[in-house]
Amino acid sequence: MPNLFPSTGSGMSKNAPDIRPGRLSREEIDANFGDLHPPLDRPEALIEADRCYFCYDAPCTTACPTGIDIPGFIQKIRSDNLRGSANTILSENIMGGMCARVCPTEVLCEEACVRNTHEDKPVEIGLLQRYATDPIFDAGTELFERGATTGKRVAVVGGGPAGLACAHRLAMHGHDVVVFNRDTKLGGLNEYGIAAYKTVDEFAQKEVDWILSIGGIEVRNGVALGEDVTLAELREDYDAVFLGLGLGAVNDLGVETLPGVLNAIDYIADLRQTDDKTVLPVGKRVVVIGGGMTAIDIAVQSRRLGAGRVDIVYRRGPEHMGASRFEQELAQTNGVRIHYWAQPIAVQGDGHVSAVEFERTRIENGKLLRTGGFFTMEADVVFKAIGQALVDEPLSNALELDHGRIVVDDQQKTSLDDVWAGGDCVRGGDDLTVSAVQHGKVAAESINRHLAA
Ligand SMILES: Cc1cc2nc3c(=O)[nH]c(=O)nc-3n(C[C@H](O)[C@H](O)[C@H](O)COP(=O)(O)OP(=O)(O)OC[C@H]3O[C@@H](n4cnc5c(N)ncnc54)[C@H](O)[C@@H]3O)c2cc1C
Ligand code: SF4
Repeated sequence: MPNLFPSTGSGMSKNAPDIRPGRLSREEIDANFGDLHPPLDRPEALIEADRCYFCYDAPCTTACPTGIDIPGFIQKIRSDNLRGSANTILSENIMGGMCARVCPTEVLCEEACVRNTHEDKPVEIGLLQRYATDPIFDAGTELFERGATTGKRVAVVGGGPAGLACAHRLAMHGHDVVVFNRDTKLGGLNEYGIAAYKTVDEFAQKEVDWILSIGGIEVRNGVALGEDVTLAELREDYDAVFLGLGLGAVNDLGVETLPGVLNAIDYIADLRQTDDKTVLPVGKRVVVIGGGMTAIDIAVQSRRLGAGRVDIVYRRGPEHMGASRFEQELAQTNGVRIHYWAQPIAVQGDGHVSAVEFERTRIENGKLLRTGGFFTMEADVVFKAIGQALVDEPLSNALELDHGRIVVDDQQKTSLDDVWAGGDCVRGGDDLTVSAVQHGKVAAESINRHLAA
């Protein structure tokens, strides 16, 4: 694990930042990083399934980016046909297991559920989806078959949700797929980014193994486009290319920083990869700058690692936050304080951050303005969680970009005739796992039609 705090030393000096591992016992950490939404047992699932009205033209299905037939899979749960139910889910969303854990259902299917009224609550679609799919992964049951070999070869760059969904669907159509993946493990942010309490017990790798078990997918981990292989070479050697690169760079804070100001996603990646969370260095006072899912995740996980005080500062209001209302409440119930309408103007400290100065903001005619009101927040650690950006060097200016992301049409095709793209790296997405999976699926169908023509 890289040393994220090289300058903190032993912490003996009076002004040294208070950063240390082991703020909580192993037992406390284990309890804090258990399943956020424990799975339903059979009686609970049957009661929940009975709450569904099995709506015609179900709004929950329309709200699902992958278009899962939600009443259809719930109906099969009622008749104890879990394999059929899982098949309904996974045939539309091959990562239906992960999405059951991480989808912000409160702004997708469950928000659209007709039971979602002031007097009632929506059907717990996410938990039912998990109930139906977990047995498939636990038993390693094969549901899908590799198609008869076509002899066509497709390069998939990136082994995250977009790349894996594309690879699996291409394998179902009988194409030979090679996945080129920069990281040493597959899964992308499912493996390195999603909050640890949303995907416990190595579920991300279990799901990856199950996806690969279809066959016909060769994996080359530790191979990066732009370093080990070029786009021109892939276009030459393969019949089609899919790009699911994700966003590899972190946006700049816009003020000069000091040691102790960290990228939230780097720390989260370490947290996800360590076997022993008690060895992670944790600040006593943690300030998080940002308003999306990453900000909430680093704040909540810092608290659950034992940080004494955690503050999120966001430059706009609660309604503008990328994190849903549920996520904001999750932070607050974990003791995180959220401060709206302020942005950082200076990082203070002598060789290491000790405080951040903020200026209050407001919106006028749609423009974010500074108000001239200031406040300072003490910090041992500051996490930047202000969004990520595409690293476009590997694309060698060969593709059309817009606002720093790859332009695609409604079939995920880029400006090049033999290159498709999907997931976070494309323009117009909503940066969710479920949307990345849908992009990969749509692209694979389009590639399949292209190869058959
Ligand atoms: C901290 C955090 C928490 C999140 N929490 C949630 C959540 O709770 N729910 C939710 O729905 N979404 C969440 N998201 C968003 C979700 O994780 C992403 O939308 C999703 O992972 C995007 O999938 P992807 O395949 O496009 O990219 P990624 O998951 O980023 O995968 C990209 C893959 O490409 C590889 N790669 C990158 N560059 C190269 C290269 N040059 N050559 C070869 N391979 C390369 C990487 O190794 C990686 O495997 C979260 C994101 C973050 C950062
Ligand atoms: S909207 Fe709600 S009640 Fe209607 S089918 Fe979907 S889950 Fe069932």
